[in-house]
Amino acid sequence: MNAEIIAVGSELLLGQIVNSNAQFLSKQLAEIGVNVYYHTVVGDNPSRLAETIEVARKRSNLIVFTGGLGPTKDDLTKETIAKLLGRNLVSDSYALEGIEQYFKQTNRIMTENNKKQALVIEGSSVLQNDHGMAPGMGIQIQNITYMLLPGPPKEMQPMFISYGKEYLLKQLGEVDHIESRVLRFFGIGESQLETEIEDLIDAQTNPTIAPLAADGEVTLRLTAKHRSIEMTKVLLDEVEEKITSRVGEFMYGYGTTSLVSEVMKKLINHKLTVSSAESLTGGLFAQELTNEQGSSQVFASAIVCYSNEVKQNVLQVSPDILSSDGAISEKTARTLAENVRDLLGTDIGISFTGVAGPDESEGKPVGTVYIGLAFKQKPTKVYSLKLAGTRNGIRMRTVKYGFHYILQVLNET
Ligand code: ATP
Repeated sequence: MNAEIIAVGSELLLGQIVNSNAQFLSKQLAEIGVNVYYHTVVGDNPSRLAETIEVARKRSNLIVFTGGLGPTKDDLTKETIAKLLGRNLVSDSYALEGIEQYFKQTNRIMTENNKKQALVIEGSSVLQNDHGMAPGMGIQIQNITYMLLPGPPKEMQPMFISYGKEYLLKQLGEVDHIESRVLRFFGIGESQLETEIEDLIDAQTNPTIAPLAADGEVTLRLTAKHRSIEMTKVLLDEVEEKITSRVGEFMYGYGTTSLVSEVMKKLINHKLTVSSAESLTGGLFAQELTNEQGSSQVFASAIVCYSNEVKQNVLQVSPDILSSDGAISEKTARTLAENVRDLLGTDIGISFTGVAGPDESEGKPVGTVYIGLAFKQKPTKVYSLKLAGTRNGIRMRTVKYGFHYILQVLNET
């Protein structure tokens, strides 16, 4: 079944409201194996609506309409469709009773145009509106299914879930199940990831592989379709295995998880504690970590060592290192990480030093970053990065790299 969603309403075209109905319905239809190929928006104008329907009829065999079922003159969806289909509008007694009752209960006078809301296309299956007055409709004519739903999401959504979906499922008979899985990556750019799995992306049909980059991270959404739910999982497992055999070292989790919550889980499991010495990041690492539930079990404290005095007097970075190598250096990062760990008595000490910009510092360019990672009973590692972007972007990404390196070391243990 190839579907098109037509949202009717001039408010949508004027930008006064967002077409969230199309988003909701697309998701719902995908879940029952219906391919949505078009979203269309048309104003409250009968001739343009009729033109839109004519186009949709040529390319879709399910057309779902939202909006324009109300009592006012500009609500014309069902009138226009009925005319095109050569059907009459007839009053639905159940809907009319509901409307009459509503007016009685609220002590208001019912007008003629309210009766209009109870009109449905002759021969259609009526979809009950449990949260409003206008009933929805489903009708199949010449192999095309038309479904009419009200505009307000609080009416449309429950109507579709309770009655609309059922109506479509009956027509579809056995349906394909659609299952998605999101793989999350960090430390690899979108283009590098795509290059590594180019042949898999080129050959994709089922499951499909969709890369997306945001906030310095890359995700791959795998989507499989099959009659059996079990088989969708098998298909997803197979392609995931192929992907992780090439770029698995950069994958840190599934779905909506984040680097920080994966780090938290691992630290809790390993019963390890962490402290931070933050120059470049000014406490951002601590903030990210303490945003997570359960952080008190793993996080001791952060020392924000922005000035060289604090680096020297509190964290004992020697004046020699500060004058020879500078505050933004491999040696300073190493000393900060080891000394914050020892000073605060944690298992892990992490340090961040670098140039966030906009100006260079110590003759080092914007984006120069050093992250020190001192684990008890392990040699201290210092990572050097060259990051691009805004001041805040560099700081945020530095913190993400910090979590990424902690995860890498924890995965080795
Ligand atoms: P009513 O009986 O309330 O008039 P209706 O079926 O005639 O309902 P419209 O008049 O087209 O629907 O829209 C009513 C309200 O529903 C809009 O003001 C808007 O808040 C919401 N709405 C309509 N269409 C959409 C849409 N596509 N996405 C999100 N909200 C919508």
